[in-house]
Amino acid sequence: MAFIKDTIEQLKFSSPAQSEFYQAVEDVLESIEPIIEERPKYREQAIIQRLVEPERQIMFRVPWVDDNGQVQVNKGYRVEFNSALGPYKGGLRFHPSVNAGIIKFLGFEQVFKNALTGLPIGGGKGGANFDPKGKSDAEIMRFCQSFMNELYRHIGPTTDVPAGDIGVGGREIGYLFGQYKRLVNRFDGVLTGKSTLWGGSFVRTQATGYGAVYFAQCLLDDNDDNISGKRCLVSGAGNVAIYAIEKLYQLGAKPVTCSDSGGTIYHEQGIDLDLLKQIKEENNGRLYEYLDTHSEAEYTPRDDYPKDGHCVWRYQADLALPCATQNELTEKDAQALLENGCRYIVEGANMPCTQSAVDLFIENNISYGPGKAANAGGVATSQLEMAQNASMQRWTFDEVDTKLQHIMRNIHRDAKRTAEEFNHPSNLVLGANIAGFRKVADAMIQQGVV
Ligand code: NDP
Repeated sequence: MAFIKDTIEQLKFSSPAQSEFYQAVEDVLESIEPIIEERPKYREQAIIQRLVEPERQIMFRVPWVDDNGQVQVNKGYRVEFNSALGPYKGGLRFHPSVNAGIIKFLGFEQVFKNALTGLPIGGGKGGANFDPKGKSDAEIMRFCQSFMNELYRHIGPTTDVPAGDIGVGGREIGYLFGQYKRLVNRFDGVLTGKSTLWGGSFVRTQATGYGAVYFAQCLLDDNDDNISGKRCLVSGAGNVAIYAIEKLYQLGAKPVTCSDSGGTIYHEQGIDLDLLKQIKEENNGRLYEYLDTHSEAEYTPRDDYPKDGHCVWRYQADLALPCATQNELTEKDAQALLENGCRYIVEGANMPCTQSAVDLFIENNISYGPGKAANAGGVATSQLEMAQNASMQRWTFDEVDTKLQHIMRNIHRDAKRTAEEFNHPSNLVLGANIAGFRKVADAMIQQGVV
């Protein structure tokens, strides 16, 4: 359709060299074609043009001093994408690959994901091209403090509430919050993913991984199938991957892989979760250390991966959960999964499957849960943290977990019903995109041209 091509062309001109952002926009625009046809008011109100332009983009210098006394400089970002449904909400990513295009792709996705949760949250995303790997604790603290020295003036409990993402976990949230509190002299619920000692919600740490598995359960239910006994491939070894693996075990499934940016572990008897947590959460270590305890496991270094993909997806399994990063599952990987009989793909990460991989899943009628829906458990639980902070309440682990399960079931139902309404009953990409888009677009129209 012409509007998709025109929009992408305009973006290439106004926001050059942001390929991941164009990819995310194209994915949404292709899905929402039927509703754009059906409802002329979206065109009349220039909803697409307004949606693809963030409400505000902040870029800033982050200077800090390393342990050798050298001054280092990184680039910080906060993209406040859309506040039609509530305060901007979305994580901060610290990774050397971060640039404006990556943050915009993540922020754009976040708008629709947050809408899908049914909770009152808008979409935003931020981060820095800072590499936490190999940095001392003191360096991480100084970087976080410098980052917050600029960010604090843009955020607030009813304005913009960041959380974690790649490279930003509990430790970083602690340092960021400490500096915010020092600067504003207020104990605000301005960040989520806080420690449960000082305002954090139970289940926030586990929420994205658990939520993705709850979403997988919905897909299996649709097929009168059961998660118990399923062989599962998981990529990543960070927050999302670890808690996806934990929930898979709790539900009787068998995760046999995990990976980090250095390589992949395949362990036929099932990933040793306690060891994985020890290596990654306690020691900030590398995955090859897994072999020190389990020499019978296989480790494939990144350099030995197939030329056009990731080695995680080359093993036989029933369910695949990409939980590391964007575009980590290629068309070739998708082919390998199909050839090996994998019937369920659920995205724990943001946009981990390339567009051609997604097309292949849909053509082959694979049960595919797009990240926008399947990994929304993290942000949903962040909103539950905001609600607890605002009302000065504290819910138990089980209370929050029950709410999370309920939210994930609702997201799945909403995406599925919308896909059926638009005559693509098994296409949850289309269902999730239209369901999210419709809420945001209608709210924008009701709020006038702002
Ligand atoms: P973490 O930093 O905790 O873990 C990321 C994992 O992915 C690590 O194992 C990391 O390996 C690996 N990884 C990162 N970048 C690359 C890369 N370029 N190539 C290969 N491996 C890579 O992040 P999270 O688990 O929090 O996030 C994972 C994904 O889930 C991201 O896409 C994120 O946007 C998404 N997500 C996260 C949410 C959350 O609540 N945390 C919410 C919703 C989505 P290494 O340690 O070697 O860098």
